[in-house]
Amino acid sequence: LLYNQVQDLKGAIRVYCRVRPFLPGQSNGHSTVDYIGENGDMMIVNPLKHGKDARRVFSFNKVFGTSVTQEQIYADTQPLIRSVLDGFNVCIFAYGQTGSGKTYTMSGPDLTTEETWGVNYRALRDLFHISKERAGSIKYEVFVQMIEIYNEQVRDLLVSDGSNRRYPLSSSNIRNNSQLNGINVPDAFLVPVTCTQDVLDLMRTGQKNRAVGATALNERSSRSHSVLTVHVRGRELVSNSILRGCLHLVDLAGSERVDKSEAVGERLKEAQHINRSLSALGDVISALAQKSPHIPYRNSKLTQVLQDSLGGHAKTLMFVHINPELNAIGETISTLKFAERVS
Ligand code: ADP
Ligand code: MG
Repeated sequence: LLYNQVQDLKGAIRVYCRVRPFLPGQSNGHSTVDYIGENGDMMIVNPLKHGKDARRVFSFNKVFGTSVTQEQIYADTQPLIRSVLDGFNVCIFAYGQTGSGKTYTMSGPDLTTEETWGVNYRALRDLFHISKERAGSIKYEVFVQMIEIYNEQVRDLLVSDGSNRRYPLSSSNIRNNSQLNGINVPDAFLVPVTCTQDVLDLMRTGQKNRAVGATALNERSSRSHSVLTVHVRGRELVSNSILRGCLHLVDLAGSERVDKSEAVGERLKEAQHINRSLSALGDVISALAQKSPHIPYRNSKLTQVLQDSLGGHAKTLMFVHINPELNAIGETISTLKFAERVS
């Protein structure tokens, strides 16, 4: 019976599911989800007291249990990162309700210990490492852009006043926007970086700027999508030919539904923008998976910004995050249904 409900894993994207552990101080009750093997690919939602409808099996490319480390998570992400240096466009998303571990996966709990670094720092460290290894045959340049999408407006996180400003590109040969494979916000700063420390510095700037104008950092960061884009340009020394690849690391806004009877004014508007843009993302990914002739990129800023890196030869990975607590069961189920729809 259960296995009838297992979805086939076809489609354009890879979906990894990560369950965060109970946090210190949280009642260490029963998890609402079980998984088959630490690195299995299936997850069972327990019925608990939610009736028989809640009992479902979902399958993913991978399920990461609560004891999986940041390093193990990255090990299964690394092949995608390498392909950026071969000229592919890659999108990596973190999806889930607020508090489910999106930022933990993408950035980590703090920047000071490398051991807990998230996917984005590890990815950049690897990009520099591999580009050094290849230095004898290909000369790479790496550029970084950081934007935030809030209420369907794009904001450059690398300038403190929130305005968009073009980075002076005179030092490089990249002048024509049409050559900026994967860069769809040409007005936002595009900053050359040469080492992981450069990136760490930029991230700090971005995080500081993200707080500007927000009543509370956490509040704001859970209601906007943040997009870290890494543009790579390589010149093959013998043939002089150029290759370009692009990596988007996207920490999505919290997917939780807002109670319409409670949310008013700004809060309601934000919630509607988030719901709309997350379903637009789901629509694009499932249209791609079904090889639909019309891909509705233009229905949200997020999908417009990522247009060149979704579909075609681009590669997509989505981490869906699960909060194991009982009071999160409703969001857990809708997160799993979203994941099922896009995979
Ligand atoms: P989100 O970005 O989805 O709102 P966070 O990444 O901020 O959620 O995580 C919420 C809390 O849970 C944070 O205190 C974070 O450090 C902790 N946390 C999340 N995932 C893990 C994990 N895999 N292991 C340990 N702590 C985690
Ligand atoms: Mg977060």
